[in-house]
Amino acid sequence: MSKIALVTGITGQDGSYLAELLLKKKYIVHGLVRSNYKKKNKFNWRIKKIENKLVLHKVNINRTKKIEKILIQIKPNEIYHLAAQSYVDYFKKAKVNTMNINYTFTKLLLKLIKKNNLQTKFFFAGSSEMYGMNKGAKINERTKFNPKSTYGLSKLASFRLIKKLRSSYNLHASTGILFNHESPKKDKSFVLRKISSSVAKIKKGQQKKIFLGDIKSLRDWGHAKDFVKAMWLICQQKEPDDYIIGTGKLHSVEDFIKLAFKHVNLNYKKYLVIDKNLIRKKDSKARKADISKIKYKLKWKPQISFKKMAKQMVSNDLTILNKK
Ligand code: NDP
Repeated sequence: MSKIALVTGITGQDGSYLAELLLKKKYIVHGLVRSNYKKKNKFNWRIKKIENKLVLHKVNINRTKKIEKILIQIKPNEIYHLAAQSYVDYFKKAKVNTMNINYTFTKLLLKLIKKNNLQTKFFFAGSSEMYGMNKGAKINERTKFNPKSTYGLSKLASFRLIKKLRSSYNLHASTGILFNHESPKKDKSFVLRKISSSVAKIKKGQQKKIFLGDIKSLRDWGHAKDFVKAMWLICQQKEPDDYIIGTGKLHSVEDFIKLAFKHVNLNYKKYLVIDKNLIRKKDSKARKADISKIKYKLKWKPQISFKKMAKQMVSNDLTILNKK
């Protein structure tokens, strides 16, 4: 019999890759989408190709009764809770909203699982933003938390709640502590996709320059397609647990720029403009993942290299432009 999965945030980068993976594995895939979701508008671009294979439920995250009804009705074997306000705000704006979406919604789902005694495995998307700086050392599951943003704080609050409920009520609830990950499905407001889409436009003669801030900025960047495989693996385990998911390697924005321009045979120096206004004052410094635990326990490691990802993202943006 097919397993049943429920994915929150199914229209996002990770949710859409995860839905593809689960469909390949013959799951029946349900997704929660906002109540104003419409098939024919911008909300569905990431799941357009698979939309008719999904069961989508339109509901806002504060509609407790409706969400409870959906959970009882579909009885998911696995819940992947990925919906989040995913921008890092460094305590400047959207504080209440971020906590509401990223923490209150997690709390509600867990409460409903417990209340209705649902036999489901629950995965939560945590974040490397739950940590502060670790002075060059890699971050592992024992590293002390020290969030520097409302986003990081909201993820940590959910993580702690999950840990507490896991030990008090025996819930099969796990957190994947995700380091940065990108793909052709990333929003263009994030730097790597901004670069890949600009490089494609420059190649096609539709853009002259690319304006960027601190190109020396380093991140542990993986590919979303690899990360959703880790999420699935975590839910297949007998025991719930928390895992760092990353690559363990740092790359700079500049590394990506070079690879992206090289892929279309252009010299990046001719097109790059450093704009000091784009340099983030409170940018979180580089954090590197120690993925020993997930490698050892789940035999997971990233398969798609940074170089391959850069080429794939630029090629995808060129394809989009060619279709226009
Ligand atoms: P995206 O921003 O691509 O997707 C976020 C998803 O959450 C979308 O489906 C979005 O729906 C949904 N969402 C946001 N706000 C609401 C809301 N108010 N009500 C209902 N749904 C909402 O994120 P990713 O796929 O990249 O990330 C997946 C998870 O992983 C997130 O929890 C994120 O915080 C976490 N994470 C991601 C990292 C990364 O580098 N990508 C790094 C660390 C953690 P809609 O399309 O309707 O807006």
